[in-house]
Amino acid sequence: MPADPVTQVVLDFDGTCTQIPAIYERYLELFLKGFNEAGFNVSAEEWLEAQEIVRAHSPEEGWMVAGSPAAPVAADPYIMANEAAQLILRQRRDTRPLPNINASAYAAAAAPWRDDALDTFSAIVTHGARIIIVSNSSSAFISGRLSLLLETRTDLQDKITVQSDAGKFRICELSWPDSGTISAQDAARFTALPVAYQGLLKRPLYLRRGAYFEAIRRALADDLSALSGTLFCGDIFEMDLAMPFALGARVHLLDRAEPFSTYDYERCALAACGSRGRNSTELHGLLEWFK
Ligand SMILES: [Mg+2]
Repeated sequence: MPADPVTQVVLDFDGTCTQIPAIYERYLELFLKGFNEAGFNVSAEEWLEAQEIVRAHSPEEGWMVAGSPAAPVAADPYIMANEAAQLILRQRRDTRPLPNINASAYAAAAAPWRDDALDTFSAIVTHGARIIIVSNSSSAFISGRLSLLLETRTDLQDKITVQSDAGKFRICELSWPDSGTISAQDAARFTALPVAYQGLLKRPLYLRRGAYFEAIRRALADDLSALSGTLFCGDIFEMDLAMPFALGARVHLLDRAEPFSTYDYERCALAACGSRGRNSTELHGLLEWFK
C-alpha cells in the first residue's frame, strides 16, 4: 500500500536547522565563563578534562537532565556542557544545584541557520506541506530566529510555525488529570508504546516521552490521525525520532557533523526503520520524501 503523502514536516531545531560546528567552541567557552561567574571556580583545564570524560562515556551514558537517560551525553555541545558541569559537581561532592548557565551562553553563541534551510523550507511548502518546529529550545527564541530568516519571505510565514519548549528529554507519562482535551483514542496510542528499545546500547532507549507526545499533539492540532502523513526530522535518533517512529510516522535522521558525529547505534536504529526511515548530511535531503 503506498504511503500517505507527506503533509507535515516536524523539524527539530538545534543541529537540524542550525550549524553546530560554527559555534560549539564559543558556546563551551561562554558556558565556562557563566559557570565561574556563578561562583564555581572551574579552570580551563578542569573544564576540558570533564568534557573528555563525558565524550569517552558517550553514547553508553545518557543525558540525565530530567532524571532518566534521554540522549547520548555528548550528542551536542549543549548536552555535553550540562553533563560536564554535573560531572565536576559530582567529583567535588558539591551539592549545589547547577544554575541555568545554558540560556545566556546559548543566546550569545547563536548557531547560524544551515545554508540550505530557507531553500529547503521553500521547496517543502511548494510541495504542499507545512512545517512545524518542535524543539526543547524556547518558542520565543526560535520564533525570533525564524522571523529574521523569513523577513523577506512573507509567502512562507504562515506555513512555518513553532511549537517548542517540548521537553523531549522528559521520560514520563502523560500529564494528569487530563483536561479533557486528549481523546481516549489518542491517549491509547501513548499507552500502547513500549517502555524502551533494548539491545542497541547497554542502557535502554526510552520511548515514553509524555511531554514530547503532548507537544506533537499540539503541533498536529490535536489530531494524531495526521501522524501517517507526518515526517519527523531530527539529529538525535533517540530523542527526536524513536517515539515518532513507534507512533507510526516517517523519520529522517540528519547526520551530525564532527566533533559530535552520529553514532553507529543511531544508524542501526535508523536502518531498522526500513522504508519509513532515511538520512542525509544536508537538510535538503528531506526533499527525497517528496519524489
Ligand atoms: Mg537537535
